[in-house]
Amino acid sequence: MKRLLQLLIILSLFIWVACEDEKSNNQDDTLHEFELHSNNRVSSLLMTSSEYSDWVSNDGFSDGSMRIPLINDVYNKFADKYDFIFLVLNEPSIPSSLYYYGMLIGISNDVQGIGKNIYDYSSDYGSAGKLKAVMQLTALEYLKYGPALHELAHQWANFALPTHSVDEPGSNITSYPYGSHWGFTGGSTKGQLGGFIQSSLIENGSNSYTVDEFGPFANGGNGIPYNELELYLMGMIPISSVSNFDMFTDITSLTVNSSTFDFTASTRTTYTPQSLEDLLGERDPSIDNSQKDFKLLVVVITDSPLSDEEWNKVDATAEWFSKKEDDGTSLYNFWEATNGEGSITIEN
Ligand SMILES: [Zn+2]
Repeated sequence: MKRLLQLLIILSLFIWVACEDEKSNNQDDTLHEFELHSNNRVSSLLMTSSEYSDWVSNDGFSDGSMRIPLINDVYNKFADKYDFIFLVLNEPSIPSSLYYYGMLIGISNDVQGIGKNIYDYSSDYGSAGKLKAVMQLTALEYLKYGPALHELAHQWANFALPTHSVDEPGSNITSYPYGSHWGFTGGSTKGQLGGFIQSSLIENGSNSYTVDEFGPFANGGNGIPYNELELYLMGMIPISSVSNFDMFTDITSLTVNSSTFDFTASTRTTYTPQSLEDLLGERDPSIDNSQKDFKLLVVVITDSPLSDEEWNKVDATAEWFSKKEDDGTSLYNFWEATNGEGSITIEN
């Protein structure tokens, strides 16, 4: 009887162990090999050489039929707790086959009053509504030195204003609607999504203006913070904190000087907090309820396991971007760029 009991115990232990084995196999039922760095921030996804070469040379990220299965596999490995998934290519600099340093693809939006529709494709990707967007950065350290702040801003902007820009300077030019960026629009500071400093605007009369030089779609990557309008749309500050600014459309001439631009524009629209709200409706969630802390998953896409040096490089960019304090350099991490209102947590 004692022997039988012992046998039963051993047998049930064996079955239990077998079940555990099966369970953990199922949990790890991924198509790719993932590696999680020991600092618990960044991870890697190992592709075969041919798969990686296809992903890079044919821009798999821009192709839904390649992107969606890859993100599905990421969710085979990681829990559905991330607002954003950033894919980072294991490259020293942008591959010649790609034309962008970073790209954000929206997955869901539940914010009203920013000019953007409500939508939710997260279930296609393996998320139950948590995932907001996926981003690809085309080299290993672009989270720090590339357009990470700019691309993140695209989750919330610009869907609000019908901005204009021009292709090149000239005296008899025609501007055109400029998607997603601020174009010839003023801001409290130069915007992450372009635009000039409103306070530099000089009126010369006859629809002629001078402003400090600026970029219509960007102003220097992570070297500048978000401006007030961007922070409002992101849910970081109230609309009452957005200073009045001008949007110029129907631009008819542009002269580029050494540190200023002269331009003429037939239409000048001045936005105030009230006119912005009349145009867009109230932001919902409002500043009191808006999400200000975001969770990021950073996955390096590679065709060979990362070297210690590569791990250290990408981990340092993640540590820097998510630091909730002044980093002491001229670059802005997310906390700095949001003036301490927002924060990002990167964890694997
Ligand atoms: Zn952009």
